[in-house]
Amino acid sequence: LVDIVHFAEAGFLDESATVDIAFVEGSVSTPHELDRIQQIRANSRFLITIGACATAGGLQALRNMHDANEWIAGVYARPEHIELLSDSTPIREHVKVDLELWGCPVNTRQVLTAVRALLFGVPPVEETDKVCLECKRSQTVCVLVAKGEPCLGPVTRTGCGAICPQVGRDCYACYGPAETSNTASLANRFEGLGLQPEAIARRFLFINSHVEPFNAEGRKWLEKAHE
Ligand code: SF4
Ligand code: SF4
Repeated sequence: LVDIVHFAEAGFLDESATVDIAFVEGSVSTPHELDRIQQIRANSRFLITIGACATAGGLQALRNMHDANEWIAGVYARPEHIELLSDSTPIREHVKVDLELWGCPVNTRQVLTAVRALLFGVPPVEETDKVCLECKRSQTVCVLVAKGEPCLGPVTRTGCGAICPQVGRDCYACYGPAETSNTASLANRFEGLGLQPEAIARRFLFINSHVEPFNAEGRKWLEKAHE
């Protein structure tokens, strides 16, 4: 049913192939990646982005709040050999994306569900509920209520099966923001738990720092930290 035509890590190489489905991971961070994603879009019927870098800009998008050239100059002996765009951005900011699979990393179920839907000719369903709902379905004890952990599950998109709360730790939002997330209310709750403004900012400015409402919430608490 499925022919893999380009998957460098698995040994299939055909960069300019025309395909039914292109799965793309990674953010757009360099001029080369910008050209490449436009070529992939032109050669693909469906373009699906997978993972936090492709859907949100990734951890490397933390540089968007700073001058990346200053950092490069501080780290590399010959910074002139490094070509990069000023920001690390998700793929949908550059080309049309048909489906986004969020998560760092995504899991097998998400990918297979999307492929199966497309093979059956039906639109894949996007998961936009919150991680809390998965906790309730699996009767997992809430770490925010029971242990006072600063869990981001109330504002995080579902899909992982709430695997962190299931082992007794707080969610750090690797699946990105859920639909209609009340980040302001959750941040106030974190303050009530005793977190300092900078620590609250860091909760939101992490793997998915470039996307809203995480970016605005994180910046708000960073400003409070520097008042
Ligand atoms: S543990 Fe976190 S994700 Fe689970 S119900 Fe509590 S706040 Fe929500
Ligand atoms: S519980 Fe949160 S941090 Fe853990 S895998 Fe799921 S979304 Fe990611």
